[in-house]
Amino acid sequence: MVGLPEIAPLPARVLAEAMRVAVLGPRDIPGLPEAVATQLLFEFEKNWSGVLIPVNGENVIVHNTNHLPERQESNIMHELAHLLCKHKPARIVPPGRFPWASRSYDCEQEEQAAWLGGCLQLPRCALLAALKRRLNNPAIAEFFGASVEMVRFRRNMTGIEPELARLTGATASMVESTGPKLRRKGSKLAATGLILQPELF
Ligand SMILES: [Zn+2]
Repeated sequence: MVGLPEIAPLPARVLAEAMRVAVLGPRDIPGLPEAVATQLLFEFEKNWSGVLIPVNGENVIVHNTNHLPERQESNIMHELAHLLCKHKPARIVPPGRFPWASRSYDCEQEEQAAWLGGCLQLPRCALLAALKRRLNNPAIAEFFGASVEMVRFRRNMTGIEPELARLTGATASMVESTGPKLRRKGSKLAATGLILQPELF
């Protein structure tokens, strides 16, 4: 769908492009007064992450560009997850706190979007592969563009630890086996020689 290798981090903006969803920051919105954009980015910084806005039958995600890059990934994935799940908004929120109409979802849909967003950022099989390689949480977070909190959340929620304990040791030699090698260009992990083997994902 997005033309990436089978095993690779999936940047949220790449997925958004494949889904034909524009991703904008407040300052990218044509006609939005600078004072309003500044208010959203600073005064209300902690009050919002991202919103999905219907514009002429298309979907636009406006997200908080003041959040850390890894948080932005998670925020955008969350909004995309709503779309992938074909969630019907509980209501359309009229302009007010935000200068545009947006969608509001019920709790169950929010939980589903949070779960799918995490799966997209850090699939269980990818997490397992990284752990078999004995990468720690910060290294996994860097490779997949996720936050350390997300790595921790996925480790806790996927029940991966018992499986890892069973597999550890038996797989150490597999890591050195031949096969397509994947490196994330420019990352510290690539510099230190991290090689993720497809068969481990
Ligand atoms: Zn949501």
